[in-house]
Amino acid sequence: MTAQLSMWEPSPGGYFGEFGGSFVPEVLHETLEEVREAFEAARRDPGFWRLYVDTMAEYAGRPTPVTFCPNLTRQLGGAQVYVKREDLNHTGAHKANNVMGQGLLAQRMGKKRVIAETGAGQHGVATATMAARLGFECTIYMGAEDVERQHPNVFWMEQLGAEVVAVTDGTRTLKDAINACLRDWAESMADTHYVMGTVCGPHPFPQMVTWFQSIIGTEARAQMLDAAGALPDAVYACVGGGSNASGIFAGFGEDAGVELVGVEAGGKGIDTGQHAARLAGGQGRTGVAQGYRTVFLQNDEGLMHDTYSCAAGLDYIGVGPILAHLGQQGRIRFESVTDAEVVDALRLAMRTEGIIPALESAHAFAAAVREAPHLSPDQRILVNQSGRGDKDIFTVADALDDEGWREFIRQRAAGYAR
Ligand SMILES: *Cc1c(COP(=O)(O)O)cnc(C)c1O
Repeated sequence: MTAQLSMWEPSPGGYFGEFGGSFVPEVLHETLEEVREAFEAARRDPGFWRLYVDTMAEYAGRPTPVTFCPNLTRQLGGAQVYVKREDLNHTGAHKANNVMGQGLLAQRMGKKRVIAETGAGQHGVATATMAARLGFECTIYMGAEDVERQHPNVFWMEQLGAEVVAVTDGTRTLKDAINACLRDWAESMADTHYVMGTVCGPHPFPQMVTWFQSIIGTEARAQMLDAAGALPDAVYACVGGGSNASGIFAGFGEDAGVELVGVEAGGKGIDTGQHAARLAGGQGRTGVAQGYRTVFLQNDEGLMHDTYSCAAGLDYIGVGPILAHLGQQGRIRFESVTDAEVVDALRLAMRTEGIIPALESAHAFAAAVREAPHLSPDQRILVNQSGRGDKDIFTVADALDDEGWREFIRQRAAGYAR
């Protein structure tokens, strides 16, 4: 069974309302068309979805459970809180779904090599595991700035056999890595597939990545009916590029009674300029960049703003065109939460339920914590825990401002200096 995806069908050219499309150099038209045709054929072949589901079961631990949270529910004193546990995937987040899906598609297309961009490195690590498992050569492009900041993920990518290329152009961050990846692809497309990390970029990536991630929503809908005997009243998911949100929302798109809430990074506050809220708060502007049209955080001249979030995965200027469209249509409500609310929600989840959300996922928790007390005890909400926080000990310990951790790092550093 696959998800209810009619709302996720683009019009010709890959548009969702006014958003989406494909704005790439001429040389890439042919290869994007090849990907689109392969994706369409795979979608029509029920055996392919079965292969994907079976592979995720055998290799990545799917289906991930839905966990009822009695203590958190009691503490909040409103709606019953359920959590979809994408943190239990191999490599610790929903990213495994997308990379394995695209890997199986690349295999079907007869490709020998995969490339990917990565910001904080999570998508790079997930792609490197997939490449090792399926036998692809693998090159990961990462801004030189990020290579320095995110060494643990660089370590794992290299141990998994991937080549990590530090991109020294521009601001030496994610957008420069995307451009380097597109340049590689233009020269290597005959034998190489570009594993886009989220529901952004040129058509068909937004639709294709949503399709793979819809495994989250398809499972969650059946699990809610099983566990609670009813659908949730609202579903919360954090929104960086938008892939975990698109994935869980896809399961409930046609259920008019289920409210869909996308939660963006409010950072230090929406009025400080230090945030990544493109849709909540109305500061984004529609434009074309990185191969697609969407709402970007940019000024009226098209100059991109610097974005900020305590969660690296939410720190992005654009947003999936499908989400921008469904927001405009009123099907998805967008909210933002501040870093301070996120840290409080993270602590609450850990102390009451012994679950450790990633900082990204804690944004979804923070919105749920804000809203659940205003709902009644016979209502249910579902929070998508997109990933686990324990692998992010460096950033989480910093966000929690833990003195013991700082002392530990000082000791280790002193040890290496000797
Ligand atoms: C990468 C990441 C995100 C953000 O990506 P989306 O495409 O918006 O889902 C969110 N949560 C976790 C745990 C991540 O690793």
